[in-house]
Amino acid sequence: MMENMNIAFASGKGGTGKTTIAVNLAYFLACSRQKVQYLDCDVEEPNGHIFLKPTIDESAPAKVLVPVIDQDKCTSCGECSTHCQFNALVTLPGNVLLFPELCHGCGLCIHICPEKAISDGDREIGQIGEGTAVEGIDFIHGILNVGEPMAGPLIREVKHHCKENHVRIIDAPPGTSCPVVKTISDADVVVMVTEPTPFGLHDLKIAVEVAKDLGKPIGVVINRQNGGFPPLDAYLSKNNLPVVMTLPEDREIARHYSMGDILLQAIPSYMDRFMELAVNIGKLSGDTKTQVVK
Ligand code: SF4
Ligand code: SF4
Repeated sequence: MMENMNIAFASGKGGTGKTTIAVNLAYFLACSRQKVQYLDCDVEEPNGHIFLKPTIDESAPAKVLVPVIDQDKCTSCGECSTHCQFNALVTLPGNVLLFPELCHGCGLCIHICPEKAISDGDREIGQIGEGTAVEGIDFIHGILNVGEPMAGPLIREVKHHCKENHVRIIDAPPGTSCPVVKTISDADVVVMVTEPTPFGLHDLKIAVEVAKDLGKPIGVVINRQNGGFPPLDAYLSKNNLPVVMTLPEDREIARHYSMGDILLQAIPSYMDRFMELAVNIGKLSGDTKTQVVK
């Protein structure tokens, strides 16, 4: 059993098939009588719902703290802007300017203002949606407001909804930026999804370094495999990175993807590959007893 395991799916770039693999592993495990939670942390472009088609029962705004400055009490001492490490405050004679897009909501300025001129307000950055998907999969996603630069707090909010006694499938944002680090920071295993191309390998290398720095066990899924790509094989072997699953280049997979189908519902013959993926992830996490029941 993979109960309480956090399995994060990441990729160095978008379009590698990360969500396809994450969604289908969630579906496979749910069909194997495991309690599964799918957390879509790709908050700038969440698309797990397109395939899992959850019924969203609860939707709520996600907010971050923003300071509210009482200019009448402010003496323009400059303490707040001096200590704000994100340069979100500028002190002018008789006035303090706040740049909300730069504010990380740490609250430091509220505590250090000697005149108690700063209080806490809030700002909506997106929505959290929660519901139930196919095969009883517990589903949660965050949708960042258009133009909103603060993905981190929304990802944190999605992860606050982690459920006990579930295997948690976490769809990370693509790339290697701060939101990715936030997403995979408490993963038990990181599955990197890549393509056997020069671009795929280039981005994989960068993403692997991020996961390695966090000390995470890493497995690699090679998607759209069409013959060998020796540079990828050489890189994986040199870095002791196990291939936990391969999926072939298959026009039928692409066709079902474009229609928003779950691959394993449309082509059940791929079940064995996802069973292999589940077992390999169990081994990577150190759980040698991982068993899946078809
Ligand atoms: S710390 Fe308080 S009093 Fe000083 S500039 Fe900032 S808001 Fe004004
Ligand atoms: S809450 Fe933190 S980040 Fe925002 S303005 Fe105050 S000190 Fe800066």
